[in-house]
Amino acid sequence: DGLETCRRLKALDITRNIPVIFVTGGSRVEEENECWEVGAIDFVSKPINPATLRNRVRAHLILKQQTDLLRLMAFRDGLTGVSNRRYFDDRYNVEWRRAQRAGSALSVIMIDVDHFKLYNDHYGHAEGDKCLRMVASELNAQLNRPADLLARYGGEEFVCILPDTDLNGARITAERMRLSVEKIALPHAASLTSSCVTISIGIATMEDKVSEDLAPVLVDKADEQLYIAKRSGRNRISSECLVSSEL
Ligand code: GH3
Ligand code: MG
Ligand code: MG
Repeated sequence: DGLETCRRLKALDITRNIPVIFVTGGSRVEEENECWEVGAIDFVSKPINPATLRNRVRAHLILKQQTDLLRLMAFRDGLTGVSNRRYFDDRYNVEWRRAQRAGSALSVIMIDVDHFKLYNDHYGHAEGDKCLRMVASELNAQLNRPADLLARYGGEEFVCILPDTDLNGARITAERMRLSVEKIALPHAASLTSSCVTISIGIATMEDKVSEDLAPVLVDKADEQLYIAKRSGRNRISSECLVSSEL
């Protein structure tokens, strides 16, 4: 029946946000309350006035579209369309706790465009924005697993979470990313590293169980590795596998 259908829709992540309007013949207060309890967004009693029903549906569709848009804006980076920092922070904490509980590996990849200030200075900010969009889309295309996440960390920096991925797996993914950006061969006449746009990458992997408060360590370590990659000449990867006894 309608109540059970609604209950089941609300129990699943992918159908939870579908608004459900009940149209019922009964007018008992208890029946109405049952509809609210299972998650109805609205309620129309029979006999229905078609115009009223149509307008209620329209109003809820508008509300739904606006809510979806707000949710999208809250978690997406406006320039590149990938996830934003806020979304990264949420997901990272979830994945860290999940990995610690399950005793599975977790890798974080930090990516930074090389000599991007010089790119902006040479080609202008609008071209810089275009470049960031292209880089983001290349990076995203290298992620295959549904739980992998790419986010814009800030400026010309991106970050990836790779759940259940050991250092070797993270290095393979990072190298694919580095090569994919190199392959688009976007000219960077001002770069001191190459004639095209390149990226440097830092990786930190946690393969051990440690304490929950150490969550920020992995991101900090990936950042440290990124700076090592920069100092060693850019357009390269540097990585570290953390061992719990050293933390
Ligand atoms: P390095 O190789 O050491 O990373 O050098 P870099 O020039 O890339 O690093 P730096 O941090 O000095 O400069 C980052 C530049 O990124 C500066 C800033 O103008 C540019 N930038 C940050 N956000 C945006 C953006 O949204 N659009 C554009 N076009 N440029 C941005
Ligand atoms: Mg930077
Ligand atoms: Mg940079």
